Amino acid sequence: MSKNYVIGFPRIGEKRELKKVLESFWSGEVDFGEVKYVANELKKRHWAYQKSAKVDYISSNDFSYYDNMLDTTILLGAIPKRFENLEDEELYFAMARGNKEAVAMEMTKWFNTNYHYIVPEISKETKFKLNSKKVISEYKEAKDFAVKTKINLVGPITYLGLSKSVDNSDTFLHINSVVEQYCKLLEELSLFDEEIVVQFDEPLFVKDLDSKILSLIKPVYDKLSKVSSNIKVVVATYFEHSNEATKILVNTPIWAIALDFVYGSKNFEVLEEIESSNKVLIAGVIDGRNVWKSNISKKVELLDEIAKKVSKSKILVSTSCSLLHVPFTLEYETALDSDIKSWLSFAKEKLLELKLVSKLFFNEELSLEDKSQLKRNQEDNESRKNSTKIHNKKVQDELSKLKTNERKDKFEDRIKAQREFFKYEDLATTTIGSFPQTQEIRKNRRDYKNSLISKEQYELQIKEYIDDCIAFQESIGLDVLVHGEPERNDMVEYFGELLDGFAFTKNAWVQSYGSRCVKPPLIFGDVTRENPMTVEWIKYAQSRTKKIVKGMLTGPVTILNWSFVRDDKPRNEVARQIALAIANEVDDLQNAGIKMIQVDEAAFKEGYPLRNENISKYEKWAVENFRLSVSKAKIDTQIHTHMCYSEFNDIIKTIEAMDADVISIETARSGNELLKIFKKVGYKQEVGPGVYDIHSPRVPSIDEMVEQIEALLEVLPKQQLWINPDCGLKTRKWPEVKQSLENMVKAVNIVRNKK
Ligand code: GLN
Ligand code: ZN
Repeated sequence: MSKNYVIGFPRIGEKRELKKVLESFWSGEVDFGEVKYVANELKKRHWAYQKSAKVDYISSNDFSYYDNMLDTTILLGAIPKRFENLEDEELYFAMARGNKEAVAMEMTKWFNTNYHYIVPEISKETKFKLNSKKVISEYKEAKDFAVKTKINLVGPITYLGLSKSVDNSDTFLHINSVVEQYCKLLEELSLFDEEIVVQFDEPLFVKDLDSKILSLIKPVYDKLSKVSSNIKVVVATYFEHSNEATKILVNTPIWAIALDFVYGSKNFEVLEEIESSNKVLIAGVIDGRNVWKSNISKKVELLDEIAKKVSKSKILVSTSCSLLHVPFTLEYETALDSDIKSWLSFAKEKLLELKLVSKLFFNEELSLEDKSQLKRNQEDNESRKNSTKIHNKKVQDELSKLKTNERKDKFEDRIKAQREFFKYEDLATTTIGSFPQTQEIRKNRRDYKNSLISKEQYELQIKEYIDDCIAFQESIGLDVLVHGEPERNDMVEYFGELLDGFAFTKNAWVQSYGSRCVKPPLIFGDVTRENPMTVEWIKYAQSRTKKIVKGMLTGPVTILNWSFVRDDKPRNEVARQIALAIANEVDDLQNAGIKMIQVDEAAFKEGYPLRNENISKYEKWAVENFRLSVSKAKIDTQIHTHMCYSEFNDIIKTIEAMDADVISIETARSGNELLKIFKKVGYKQEVGPGVYDIHSPRVPSIDEMVEQIEALLEVLPKQQLWINPDCGLKTRKWPEVKQSLENMVKAVNIVRNKK
């Protein structure tokens, strides 16, 4: 009897069936009955896959129409006032996406993944009231399908810890009433079966928690474990170690604790406590958030290590976290290089790894099929290690011989040379890079990719777009122009496709939020740049105008953070290879006469570790690699960077250390408040705080932007300020963009003339 456990399973469907039906429902093409039908079919299929892979603990309530945190808000009845008169699916989707009267609830990143959850809104007045419908119906559905599930719930401490307070009150004020709802739910559940396993996800426990939150753990889990003797409580943590919490949890009557041994090797430090408390240990050894095939024998060794401290009979073999964070299956990857494909494992394939690892660990007899899977696993791992596809001596040599890792000239000297060269005015106006991605431009790229049009036809259309873009920018009097990025589908994919060491899939979608999925590139080998990637387009744009055209690149840290990264090399080394490729691109651009270059680091902050103890190490190599990526810039080449964040207080020193000549940031929604930190630390480089929010179609008026610019001038002097929108314009429509930018330039001119 092997004993294995899956924390959770992806729900979007192997062909994104859920996405498709949701979007048809939202656009009014189908009714909600159709959504329900598709959802039920998906759930059944997902249970069946797990059942046939002999998973012992399969989840229910890991499914969601949109998001599990949102489901929890409904479960607990914490409905914000503005949605109060709605119900059922109308309520649910209004909370997620807003409706005519009410804005949507906020959405934010789930820990350090690319999944986004709907942030609960809590105030002093929030009243909780259990609505157990979904949890119970899903449990019953599974049971009707002959699968007895464990029930996944978001733990009360994580739920409140991730909530936002709308009145500055402490969200944990509500801990007792939240726990009370959960107790009621457990009571209801206890009637359904002789024994029920309930998994409380508490990933908050992997953060550095203050003593107040830690002090809640014991009373909360004492209470939840005592509701009924037939309810077995599991507390699941993932993405890091949770040692402080584990040490408390072992003194509560919970049944089991699930720990991540892939991303939280420090969990080893608490194994003795787990053993002496007699808890069951759910050992997460199969990587739930990266796509590489496990090395089966290494996983068994890891479990054997764990079993030196915890009795084997108390161990369940598990995924490190929910498989939500990996794509569904490799089955449809017919175009992928067969070697690369043989090194990969997505959710469905991971189920088989789990089965094999647990059989081996528990010394169960292997079937013929198991034996051949094991043999294949060893061969595939061997082939990956030795493959010439992943090793590239050229880049390794170039990196080991590198003499300069950063720019030599000091900012003070650089900015003087740059100002002399470019002669731009104070409050120089520019944009972040992309202009609207029209239907035609998408079709053009698609047709070219599918060989429906010739290279000449494709390039002609791109050039026409660039011509229009340049002409428009000139006509409204912007100071620094861009080419508009019409050749790019995505800021990472574009570069990945041109760099060696990257692979792309057809169908490896991962849910990002709601119905939205992303298909991250795979970095499988050493990264090198064979040819210039952007030079021709930027040069073309520059040839159409006498004004300055700013070149546009994506930075190494962002490329890394938005990809699935090889696990046989440290991330910092992969980033270094990308940084070198970008550095060579910067050099080619400046040699082609493009002397203002933006290196976007939109996802710089996303790579931050969950534990404070690891932050300085990340910051160090992230900054080093950014600096390497611009190291070849000459004194009068001006380096810009852009970050899609508004909150810089914690990381301002790191931003400063990146040493870009100009940084544009996303402050539009907060007036000049967030800029103050730049002043406080004596930030010297130039800053372009976004003066309007591009996330909304609204056109800001001239007056409004005059006011905004004047507010910025209260914080930083005009010599230090650039004026721009707060992010790229690719999701907007041309008419809005034209009007907004025209107003922005007019506003700047008004302010300039006043001084
Ligand atoms: N240059 C990119 C653009 O304008 C930056 C995108 C981003 O910040 N996410 O689209
Ligand atoms: Zn941005």
